[in-house]
Amino acid sequence: MYRGRFAPSPTGPLHFGSLVAAVASYLEARQRGGEWLLRIEDVDGPRSREGAVEAILGALAGMGFVWDGEVVYQSARGDLYQREMERLGGLVFDCGCSRKEIGEGRYPGTCRAGMAEGKVLRARRLRVTDEEIWFEDGLQGRFGSRLERDLGDFVLWRADGGIWSYQLAVVVDDEVQGVTDVVRGADLMDSTLRQIYLQRLLGYRELRYLHVPLVLGEDGEKLSKQNLAPGIEVGEAADLLARALRFLGQEPPEGLGLVRLWEWGVGNWDVRRVGREKFSTGHI
Ligand code: GLU
Repeated sequence: MYRGRFAPSPTGPLHFGSLVAAVASYLEARQRGGEWLLRIEDVDGPRSREGAVEAILGALAGMGFVWDGEVVYQSARGDLYQREMERLGGLVFDCGCSRKEIGEGRYPGTCRAGMAEGKVLRARRLRVTDEEIWFEDGLQGRFGSRLERDLGDFVLWRADGGIWSYQLAVVVDDEVQGVTDVVRGADLMDSTLRQIYLQRLLGYRELRYLHVPLVLGEDGEKLSKQNLAPGIEVGEAADLLARALRFLGQEPPEGLGLVRLWEWGVGNWDVRRVGREKFSTGHI
């Protein structure tokens, strides 16, 4: 059974970029007769914005998405993440490095052998190895790298606010929720490598991945809730869905209403038409 999901972080309203990812994952799931789950990734309390969950759920419902089962909230699942992190045993280490000390690049392994005297606990990190991790993406083809060389030991938990990391939460939830297929934006491909590494350590199932191009604004920047990309206006739902489909390389007929357009999408979705570039300004 195919089981997909959409997993927005409630850091702002649903914008066109998230809508594109939602449409792609939805049509992949529905065309295969699969399920489509909705999970709110609100692990990062301080970055979650008041009212954003309601806005996202309202926008999705107004756009005509129908999800299976109850919406899952990561903020209620801390005990589960804790338990799974503990299973990683000695691969998890305490880190006292500040963002400034680490800089822009990959984490150099500073606290692997213990925190230096006088440092305070800032995060728990997972030690990575230098073996190559790769996966065969449903759209982008083979993608891989060596975690230690390219990405570095990554954070599982942050002491400031007691925040579970996206990487850990997403891996645990996809496993526990029985997700089989992940369709999301191509900005997350490096994260996928970290997630595969984590899945293997935890003895989880492997997932299939498909990363769709990310919507760039006219300024060439990624649309994101942080840069306050405008929320979608559901009043124009059919038009928005048509634009999302066109961005994804599909060619819906002009003038269909929302219900007919979804029917057309489920019947005609063809992932081979989606552009392989990782970023695109597309037809927005
Ligand atoms: N919560 C992530 C975001 O909003 C997406 C996570 C995922 O699809 O794995 O960017």
